[in-house]
Amino acid sequence: GEIDYVFKVVVVGDSAVGKTQLLGRFAKDEFFLDSKSTIGVEFQTRTLTLHRKQVKAQIWDTAGQESYYRGALGAMVVYDVTRRATFDHVPRWVEELRAHADGSTVVALVGNKADAPAHRREVPADEAARFAEEQGLFFSEASALTGDNVERAFLALLEEVFAVVS
Ligand code: GDP
Repeated sequence: GEIDYVFKVVVVGDSAVGKTQLLGRFAKDEFFLDSKSTIGVEFQTRTLTLHRKQVKAQIWDTAGQESYYRGALGAMVVYDVTRRATFDHVPRWVEELRAHADGSTVVALVGNKADAPAHRREVPADEAARFAEEQGLFFSEASALTGDNVERAFLALLEEVFAVVS
């Protein structure tokens, strides 16, 4: 079918938080056991129907190259719930996005690796939810490993982008 919209979405966050795996999960519903950490820039696409329109989501795994933020309608800032530092760096990622992406870019915060056992968790969900609310970001925890919430997190972001552009 014909594509009505192409939505560019960038996935950013510290190294090894699971950006590549989240993207792979959403684009292909796969979890790659031997993924190398993100080196370059790549994108994957998935075409879906939103409100009877064919939307091609073009999702970029950027490793933070600023020039790739240009034209992004949506952004997903990812941290790892088992590594506090990756959450502490979230404000920096949000600032980068606000500096280099368009003003209307919809930003979602995702705490990945929610499958981790409780004793390994370093970021409480309610703390992240509070931060996201203050910043006006969508928030969810997810697991690229189990697939939990991955679809939901991307769809919520794409729905909001759709609301902004349509
Ligand atoms: P990136 O550098 O942010 O792209 O991170 P990767 O997607 O390469 O993932 C980094 C490491 O975390 C890899 O060893 C993955 O197998 C692992 N990983 C990614 N997502 C999850 C998850 O949801 N749960 C768990 N337990 N491990 C994950």
